[in-house]
Amino acid sequence: MKFDVIVVGAGPSGSAASLTAAKAGMKVLTLERGPEPGSKNVSGAMVRLSEVAKVFDVNGVPFEREVKRVRLLLSSEKGDIRIDTYPKTKLLNVSRLKFDKYLSQQAENAGTLLITKTTALGIKKEGEYYRVITDRGEIEGDKVVLAEGANALVSMNIGIRPEFSPTNTVQAVKEVYTLGKDEVNKRFQLQGDTEGESWRVIASDPVPYAGFLYVYKDSVSIGVGVPMQTLIDKKMRPYEVLDSFEKKFGINELVKGGSLREYSAKIIPEQGFPEWKSCMDGIYSSGDAIGLINPLVFNGIGPAIISGSLAGKASVENWDCRKFALELMNVKEIREISKLRPLVKELLGKGYLSVYDEFLTNIAESWASGDLSELTQYKEIIPTLLKHVLLLWGGIA
Ligand SMILES: Cc1cc2nc3c(=O)[nH]c(=O)nc-3n(C[C@H](O)[C@H](O)[C@H](O)COP(=O)(O)OP(=O)(O)OC[C@H]3O[C@@H](n4cnc5c(N)ncnc54)[C@H](O)[C@@H]3O)c2cc1C
Repeated sequence: MKFDVIVVGAGPSGSAASLTAAKAGMKVLTLERGPEPGSKNVSGAMVRLSEVAKVFDVNGVPFEREVKRVRLLLSSEKGDIRIDTYPKTKLLNVSRLKFDKYLSQQAENAGTLLITKTTALGIKKEGEYYRVITDRGEIEGDKVVLAEGANALVSMNIGIRPEFSPTNTVQAVKEVYTLGKDEVNKRFQLQGDTEGESWRVIASDPVPYAGFLYVYKDSVSIGVGVPMQTLIDKKMRPYEVLDSFEKKFGINELVKGGSLREYSAKIIPEQGFPEWKSCMDGIYSSGDAIGLINPLVFNGIGPAIISGSLAGKASVENWDCRKFALELMNVKEIREISKLRPLVKELLGKGYLSVYDEFLTNIAESWASGDLSELTQYKEIIPTLLKHVLLLWGGIA
């Protein structure tokens, strides 16, 4: 049996590609290596509903809690800053198992055939069509979408993108503690079943890292992301950074008595499209597979969905690689990620994240103590600061 489009991966990006192609009347097959969509991404994330709604029907989207408060925390040896912000846009903390299943179901409802427990291993070109090799046999398709996430083995196999290197990778680790709904509400001072909270953290000890905390219905997810090269240079393990994060911000008290439900580790690419190719003669890549994630704010699901939908459209309309790349760059969220990459490289790769962390906490401390003279020591970073402001401006303007 031959398909019009074969999609590898039933994550947010793959389901967006499948839905778009199936809605256009294509015969679509989606391959997922896990027993069900989302099972390889069990615990959740914070998503912007407006980005999901660009492709999917969000009436009835399963969510854990709506984020009413985002707590920003900065910490360095100079002190700590805590700012509570109240998002104007709708942010949801979701369980990936339920969320990914919900998205994938929409693709199935549109006519996609989903086959789980099947891993794509490679792709062979056979004249005008492709043969996708899996651990359960081979399937033929006219077009292929690679939406296999960050650890994109097929994409690396066929040479559409490079292998990871420690200098372009962030290592993330995450834990989920179950506490029960009442305890979650009490400990985070939340009302009702659906009011939620998230934390974003930048800290410098024991190494520079970004941390997060998401509150679910009856549990709490905590994690950190650290540049891989930093871990190698400092001979540290990611869980040591996570441990330090939990102690430093009193999280171990907040989850005390809870049961550890999940411990997972994942890599986040720091590089990607457009330096990485997004297409190869009828094969289109999307989402984390081409690094469409902002590692500073852990936002990847929206860009994965938007780029997946474009890959689906490219398969239907037989776009060439130039057109696909142009269409990707036309999307604000994707353009922003790619244009901010030089800044991310400076902040994570060259260590400026901890310089600014210290700078900002020092400003706060100097202001509180009424002596601003200590800030003169930062005179030398002003040119770099201006350069980074311009890079930021170039990315978002
Ligand atoms: C710790 C951490 C926290 C994060 N927090 C957030 C957050 O709060 N908000 C946010 O927006 N983003 C967050 N992200 C990023 C987000 O998880 C990703 O950007 C997003 O999941 C990318 O979607 P995707 O569909 O491209 O890939 P994935 O979600 O990784 O999906 C890929 C799918 O393909 C399947 N697959 C892989 N290889 C094969 C194969 N060979 N054959 C068949 N199936 C295959 C996998 O099983 C998986 O189901 C976080 C990432 C990490 C690591």
